[in-house]
Amino acid sequence: MNSTHQIPKAEIHVHLEATITPDLCRKFALRNNVNLSNDIFGNKYAYEWSDFYDFIKKYDVVTSVIHTPEDYRELTYAYLKDCASKNVIYVEAMVSSTHAKEKGMTYHSFLEGVHEASQEAEKDFGIVSRFIMNGIRHLGPESVQSTAEEVLNNPHPNLVGFGLAGDELHFPPKLFVNTFDMLKEAKFPITVHAGEWDGPENIRNAISLLHPTRLGHGVRSIEDPNLVKEIIDKDIVLETCPTSNIATKIYENYKSHPVKTLFDQGVKVTVNSDDPPFFNATIQGEYKVMEDLGLNEKELTSLTHNAIKYSFCDEENKSKLLSKLN
Ligand SMILES: [Zn+2]
Repeated sequence: MNSTHQIPKAEIHVHLEATITPDLCRKFALRNNVNLSNDIFGNKYAYEWSDFYDFIKKYDVVTSVIHTPEDYRELTYAYLKDCASKNVIYVEAMVSSTHAKEKGMTYHSFLEGVHEASQEAEKDFGIVSRFIMNGIRHLGPESVQSTAEEVLNNPHPNLVGFGLAGDELHFPPKLFVNTFDMLKEAKFPITVHAGEWDGPENIRNAISLLHPTRLGHGVRSIEDPNLVKEIIDKDIVLETCPTSNIATKIYENYKSHPVKTLFDQGVKVTVNSDDPPFFNATIQGEYKVMEDLGLNEKELTSLTHNAIKYSFCDEENKSKLLSKLN
């Protein structure tokens, strides 16, 4: 058993719908009468896709088998169980009510499925989990606005933050200013995907226009030293996903990925699996990547510390979780 297994781990950037394993995908497809073509399953990765836009397309096909609150329950429980077996103590996963509604679920019914599994997994394995509602950029500003309004109007104890995901290149931060002003006004925690596909200017705009305390990825900030300094000064945490970035060919390999340099420069970094089976990524694997890049046990534990401290979980659970790191 390698040392990264022993280290208590936490994950704060994973898309719940995208954690679906091929086994669950086939099972749900059968149960929900979805005709799934066999070419969806891949050789290199669990699902077949060619580039980022094809990935978004296939992501929709794969997750289209999730139809009911019971599917959400099973999916959530399976992911948390797997994480717990690798000594992951906290998961903050992103969910999409847009997806749930497309399949005929209601806002409340799908969240109930997720919530039940979260409680069951905590009882069975001790793993704590919370959830972030994502607005989907490429569905446009109105869709993101109505998703955010619904979250604010229907508080749920397990739903602790709002995120912005999807096509970063064609749907820049300025389109979503009103929604994120509203969330800031309501003091609702915010994380935004930025600096995955687009460069420093877009990251700077995301920070100044959308008020995030965390950035999804944010790694392309490395291209501008002043921006790195701004991220450190504003105490913004990066939810980095190295394996995801290499799979989508933003970086060629782990050595050329900026995560270690950002860590060395003093940026608060976390590592995350993003869309695990699409990239053959696991949270434990991401810690192993960091170990291979030279982090010692104490430094690896600091990644967990960052993830929990800057999570959107309540303070009581945060301090309980942090005490497990000593
Ligand atoms: Zn992501």
